[in-house]
Amino acid sequence: MQNKQLLVEYFSKLSEEGRLEYKENALLSEYASFKIGGPAAFVVFPYDAQSLVDAYNYADSLGVRVLVFGNASNVLFCDDGIDGVIIFTGKLKELFVNDNGIICAGAGIHLIALSQFAYKNGFKGHEFLFGIPGNCGGAVFMNAGAYEHCISEVLYAVTYFDVKQNKIIRALKSELEFGYRESSFRKNSWIVLSVEIKLEKAENPEAVKALMDDHLRTRNAKQPLEYPSAGSVFKRYPGYYTSKLIDEAGLKGTSVGGAQVSEKHAGFIVNRGGATALDVMMLIKLVQDRIYAVNGIHIECEVIYVV
Ligand SMILES: Cc1cc2nc3c(=O)[nH]c(=O)nc-3n(C[C@H](O)[C@H](O)[C@H](O)COP(=O)(O)OP(=O)(O)OC[C@H]3O[C@@H](n4cnc5c(N)ncnc54)[C@H](O)[C@@H]3O)c2cc1C
Repeated sequence: MQNKQLLVEYFSKLSEEGRLEYKENALLSEYASFKIGGPAAFVVFPYDAQSLVDAYNYADSLGVRVLVFGNASNVLFCDDGIDGVIIFTGKLKELFVNDNGIICAGAGIHLIALSQFAYKNGFKGHEFLFGIPGNCGGAVFMNAGAYEHCISEVLYAVTYFDVKQNKIIRALKSELEFGYRESSFRKNSWIVLSVEIKLEKAENPEAVKALMDDHLRTRNAKQPLEYPSAGSVFKRYPGYYTSKLIDEAGLKGTSVGGAQVSEKHAGFIVNRGGATALDVMMLIKLVQDRIYAVNGIHIECEVIYVV
């Protein structure tokens, strides 16, 4: 990488100022829920939104590739790694209820923490998020959801960094677009810095807690959480449950190297140990080809391959 020394000097300075932490030549497999991925030249954890923007801009101004991730629970990092700067939002941890009763959360707040916080503050309507292992920023980017709900339903506003305009902007939900696993952030490569969540007050907090616990129990029972994965690999195809199609095609347990179509949940590909990104990609292609042969439809990948 060109300008590596300049980046070391800049990140060291910000680190000494208490604005971020960083690591050189870090294995991405250590950060990804799939436990797959080669080295990144730098991984950076900013402590606040402005430090994220500054780190992004500086690396970008040097012509270095910069990518932003949350909890890396919906990505497959390539085996060769990334010769660039990987920014993780995990230390953007502000979390409070403002005077208007809206929950304000940094992009790095985990959805489980968000839901627990909402419950403790007497809100309902967040239960479906409990158990999704992503951060708020990644969840808004992906418009993550479960149990027929998605995060855009409870969003009030988002503060983001528009790289092209080099500007931090706050937009109300009405100014943004969301679809099934789609968002304005994904479309425009905007970086989510913080989110505002609007929920109703719960008349019966015990019922909220019971629903959260129930969702977690269902996940534990149905999902192969004992193995590293990135959750459901494929998007739903209109009118079909993708995991059911994969199961009916007899693909449960099919393996390529260390990657396997989960025996417990056919929508998941799990890392049974030592899986490479290439193993996973070959298995994804195998599943897609078989589903096309059997059902005549192309199932799209939800997991994002980062190469
Ligand atoms: C066991 C398991 C269960 C899962 N269950 C569900 C489920 O029920 N429903 C569901 O929707 N998903 C599920 N997922 C997938 C995943 O957890 C969600 O998509 C989650 O919202 C991703 O958040 P993240 O912070 O991990 O994003 P990452 O994986 O880090 O990133 C995903 C994408 O978002 C971008 N991104 C991340 N943060 C930002 C940001 N701040 N600004 C701009 N772009 C950003 C990244 O560049 C990347 O393109 C599951 C995953 C696992 C491993």
